[in-house]
Amino acid sequence: VAEALDISNAVLIKKLMGLGMMTSVNQVLERDVVELIAMDMGIEVKDEVITDLTRYDEMEIIDDPKDLVKRSPIITIMGHVDHGKTTLLDSIRKSRVVTGEAGGITQHIGAYQVEHGGEKITFIDTPGHAAFTEMRARGAKVTDIVVLVVAADDGVKPQTIEALQHAKASGVPIIVAINKIDKPTANPDNVMSALSAHDLTPEAWGGTTPYVEVSALKRLGIDNLLDIILVLAEVEDLKANPKRDAMGTVIEAYLDKGRGPVATVIVENGTLRIGDIIVIGNTFGRIRTMNDDLKKRYDEALPGTPVEITGLDQVPQAGDIFMVFKDERVARQTAEARSSKLKETYIKQQKASSLESMFGAQDDGEKVLNLVLKCDVQGSIEALKGMLDKIDVDGFKANIVRSGVGGISETDVQLASASGAVVIGFNVRPTAAVKSLAESMNVEIRLYNVVYRITEDIEKALKGMLEPVF
Ligand code: GDP
Repeated sequence: VAEALDISNAVLIKKLMGLGMMTSVNQVLERDVVELIAMDMGIEVKDEVITDLTRYDEMEIIDDPKDLVKRSPIITIMGHVDHGKTTLLDSIRKSRVVTGEAGGITQHIGAYQVEHGGEKITFIDTPGHAAFTEMRARGAKVTDIVVLVVAADDGVKPQTIEALQHAKASGVPIIVAINKIDKPTANPDNVMSALSAHDLTPEAWGGTTPYVEVSALKRLGIDNLLDIILVLAEVEDLKANPKRDAMGTVIEAYLDKGRGPVATVIVENGTLRIGDIIVIGNTFGRIRTMNDDLKKRYDEALPGTPVEITGLDQVPQAGDIFMVFKDERVARQTAEARSSKLKETYIKQQKASSLESMFGAQDDGEKVLNLVLKCDVQGSIEALKGMLDKIDVDGFKANIVRSGVGGISETDVQLASASGAVVIGFNVRPTAAVKSLAESMNVEIRLYNVVYRITEDIEKALKGMLEPVF
C-alpha cells in the first residue's frame, strides 16, 4: 500500500496510528482503511481486475525457498486402446484399499491418490484418456510423469506413438509399462525395440527410459511400477509451497442435481481450505466441501492432492485453472470479466465464421443451423457432437457454436443471439431469469432428455430450411 501511495512504510504506519491503529509492516489492511488514507491524500482507490490467471504463475517467484516442500507427483497413464490403461488404474487403486486405507468404497472423481513407501502418488483417472491432450491444448500442464502402457502381446500401435509424441512435446518424462506379461504371447523385447526407434531406449540397453513389466489384470509388477515412479519423481525434484493460497487445475466437472456444480481439482501449489474463495475458469465460488474418491472429507488439501469440491457458482471446464482470492467481490468481478472477455472472443469468432459461411453459401450453397449446446455431463456433449456431425440434409448442416457442461446461462443466450443460434439443453434447463432474457432477445431454447429427439428435430429443422420462403 505504501508503495502504491508513494510514501514510506514508516509514514503509512504513522498515518494508521493517526486513525488509532497500531500496525506492523506485514499486516493486511482492510479496504476501508486504505481508502480512508488514500482519500486523505487525494488519491482514488480502484479495484484491479485480474483477468489473466497465468499471472499467478509469475508469482511463483515469490515463494521463499525455505517454504518449499516436496509434493506428490501427478501421473497420467496413456497408451493405445485396449492395452490396459483402465485395468492398470484399477489395480493401482485397489492396491491401496488392500493396504487398509479408509473406506473401501470408491467413487470415480477423475483422480486419486495412493500411498506407496510412505510417499503419495496422484493419478489422473479420466475416461477417454483424451484429457491430457485436451488440457495441453488449453495450456494446462498438470502431469509430471506419463506412464505409457503397451500391451506385450500387441506391441507398439498408432495411439502409442501419438501418446509418446504428446508426452515428449510437453517435456514430461515417460515410464514405459509393458502390460499383459501374463499372456503366453507376450513379447516385451518387441516393445522395447519398437520404442527404441522412437528415442525411448530402455535403461537396460544403455538408454534413459525406465521400463517395467506388469500385468494389470493379475496385479503383477505394480509395486515395481510405483517404486519407479517415486524414483523418477525424486529426480524431478517436485516442490510446492503449502503456506500460500492454493492454485491448481480442474480435471473434471459436472452439474450434480443435489450438490450443484461439482469439480475435481488438483491442488498444484498452496493449501486449499474449506471456505476459501476461488476463481475457477470463468466462474467463482466459496469452497463448501472437499472430498476424495474414498469419500473422505478434507478441511484442507495440500499440494498434489486431488479433491472434489462444491460451492461453485457454475460448472467450470476440464483444464481450467483455479486460484484463491482474498475478497469475494474481487473474485466475482474477475470471474465476470473473464466470462465477458470469453464472450467477446466467441462473438468475434462467430462473426468471422458466419461471414465465412455466407461466403460459403455463395461458393457451394452450403448452409448451417447454428447451435449452442448445453449438457449435464461432458460425455453427452461428445456423443451429441458426433451425431450432429453426421447430419447432412442436402448440404445443410448443424454447426455447434459453443458447447459446455452446466445449466443454460445468460452468456449462452447472448451468444445464441449474436450468432443466430438455437440453444439446445440436454438434461439441463435455464433459470427463470435466463428464460426471460431469451424471450426478450428472441432466442429459442429447446430442452431435451432423449438424445435421438435432438437429432430428429435438427434434421426436421434443416429440412425446413430447404422449404421455399413465400
Ligand atoms: P484400455 O482401453 O487401455 O483402458 O484397456 P482396458 O484396461 O479396458 O483393457 C482391455 C482388455 O485387456 C480388458 O479385457 C482387460 O481385462 C485386458 N487386460 C488388461 N490388462 C491385462 C493384463 O495384464 N493381462 C491380460 N491377460 N489382460 C489384460
